[in-house]
Formats: sequence, structure tokens, C-alpha cells
Amino acid sequence: MSKTQKPIAPVKPVGMEVIFFYPCPHCGRKVPLIGAVQPSMERCDACNNLFPIVPVDRRTIQYLKVSLADGGAAIDPDFM
Ligand SMILES: [Zn+2]
Repeated sequence: MSKTQKPIAPVKPVGMEVIFFYPCPHCGRKVPLIGAVQPSMERCDACNNLFPIVPVDRRTIQYLKVSLADGGAAIDPDFM
């Protein structure tokens, strides 16, 4: 960090995603996937095998995003 730079104020989140864990049927690793709303084949990042997943409901994800104001309402109150 250079002395000429102004200090940067802590940045607040302006968006959010919900991560779901899917147990790999090949090796058992809990594979994290961000809001998968389509049935699809996903690759395990540990054993590299593909497996089909059950999607999550798009409306449920949207509800969580709206409820938390896209992350803004989840900020630690000490930092508001
Ligand atoms: Zn696996």
C-alpha cells in the first residue's frame, strides 16, 4: 500500500447468491453450487465425475434475495 493512496472505506455487498451443497454420488464430496435453477449435469470438483442434480426453485431464490435486499439487509448491524 502506498502512502499517497487515500484509505478506502469498507465496501458493502451489492448482490448475493445462495450456495447449495450436492453430495457427489461417486465420492461423497459436498459439491457447492450457486442457485442451480435448471436440471443439469454437474461435475464434482474432487473426483471430476458428472452427476445429475435436482434444481432449486427460482422463486425461492428470488424471495431470499428480495428479503435480504440483495445482501444489503444482511450487513452486520455494527457496520451499518
Ligand atoms: Zn466426486
